[in-house]
Amino acid sequence: MSAPTDVKYVNIINGQATGADTNAPVYNPATGQPFAEVPVATRDDLDRAVAAARDAFPAWSATPIAERQAIVSAIGDRLEEHAEEFLALLTAEQGKPRPMAEWEVYGSVAWFREIAKQELPEDLLEETSERKVISRHTPLGVVGAIVPWNFPILLAVWKIAPALVSGNTIIVKPSPFTPLCDLKLTELVQDLLPPGVFSALAGDDDLGKWMTSHPGIDKIAFTGSTETGKHVMASAAGTLKRVTLELGGNDPAIVLPDVDPKKVAPQIFWAAFQNNAQFCNAAKRIYIHDDVYDAVRDELVEFARTVVVGDGSQPDTQLGPIQNRPQLEKVTEYFDDCRANGYTFALGGTIDTSSDGWFVPVTLVDNPPEDSRLVAEEPFGPILPLLKWSDEADVIRRANDTVWGLGATVWGADLEAVERIGRQLEAGTVWLNEVHEYSPHQVFGGHKQSGIGAENSLHGLAEYTNHQTVCLNRSEGSVA
Ligand code: NAD
Repeated sequence: MSAPTDVKYVNIINGQATGADTNAPVYNPATGQPFAEVPVATRDDLDRAVAAARDAFPAWSATPIAERQAIVSAIGDRLEEHAEEFLALLTAEQGKPRPMAEWEVYGSVAWFREIAKQELPEDLLEETSERKVISRHTPLGVVGAIVPWNFPILLAVWKIAPALVSGNTIIVKPSPFTPLCDLKLTELVQDLLPPGVFSALAGDDDLGKWMTSHPGIDKIAFTGSTETGKHVMASAAGTLKRVTLELGGNDPAIVLPDVDPKKVAPQIFWAAFQNNAQFCNAAKRIYIHDDVYDAVRDELVEFARTVVVGDGSQPDTQLGPIQNRPQLEKVTEYFDDCRANGYTFALGGTIDTSSDGWFVPVTLVDNPPEDSRLVAEEPFGPILPLLKWSDEADVIRRANDTVWGLGATVWGADLEAVERIGRQLEAGTVWLNEVHEYSPHQVFGGHKQSGIGAENSLHGLAEYTNHQTVCLNRSEGSVA
């Protein structure tokens, strides 16, 4: 099923469908053709959305949490009722094939329902006849959510659900490359909420800058690149906004000598190439022990040859296109750099530019230098370096020798060794003999330049709140 082309997409401001003087096209990356357009929000649109969010905040934050939780859960139900439309739309605007779209859409449903069960109870620290001391959480106010293009729904939901449960109002800004699902979701659930509580604005990168500096926004929840994250933090400093930054990564995967190459290869493949490697948590450097390097490389090549790359709307497709043209150009640079430096391609290596869609072949690079761009940077596309190791301390050092620290994996039969190595890796999530297992109740965040703060779990929920200590002096005769 493909997404209809005659649907109108609107910004939602104060509960109202809102157009704009200027519209921007949205492309299907599998065809390279525009198939929809969205309004480009102006600064005035943002001001009106912020004013509405501020007006809505007192009543929303005073609404009993059980009611807010029920509404957030109902948003999940509504998304589930319309899942088929969102699956088609997500594939059309993002490019991902059906199984990955299902993971994202049904994952989002689950996130709404599970985050809706969370709350941060008050802590009674002291209670005597003289004094009562309570520690509690209060909502921040208006949240600005800024979302990337690789998981446009799920990464918005990771912000919408906790912001609303904890009593904030929210304005979502999707990526200009993938605005459709977020606008539709916002429109679809307006009847469940008071106006102004949940708005969405499509716009360009300027809109992001206006949000991060806006005095009426109290917190920015941002997912995107490390480079943009630094701009967000600098801009937010002007008003001392709270920030949660979920940024880039360069996740190492360490493969021990006792693996069965045939069994581990498909798992490593999907760790690296899921979502066409446009995944913050994609395994981006594969360190394979010398003893099994050739065997694992050959099994990876063999498995990769069976994987179907194509238009995500086709039932057999396993990997879709690169999501947007600038990203295609960026990924192409890594191919050119590998070729210019004479690195060996174990598979792939040549991009067919005659296709209208933005397709790149699955590419494996055989043991490039540790300081090559491919190893040191985040290509965010389906070109993967395979590297050799023989000394445990050295591979741990190499795995940690990066500014990033988002995720890491270790693969091996000796579970003691696997855990010993895993515990020495500098990353927010370390998966051992598995990968990409997330939960609304599992904290997620980056070490080092992969981010600040966390999403999911009660730690993530707390980031939408202030800490407040309430001290009551009950001693008789102290004031009257
Ligand atoms: P990006 O940083 O280019 O854009 C992210 C969002 O920021 C978009 O909505 C964009 O319009 C907006 N933006 C751009 N410039 C801005 C500015 N100056 N001020 C405010 N907002 C601005 O990232 P992308 O290319 O959309 O996404 C890919 C990156 O995101 C990769 O680096 C990836 O690793 C990272 N990512 C991280 C996570 C995580 O949870 N840590 C998850 C997914 C993606």
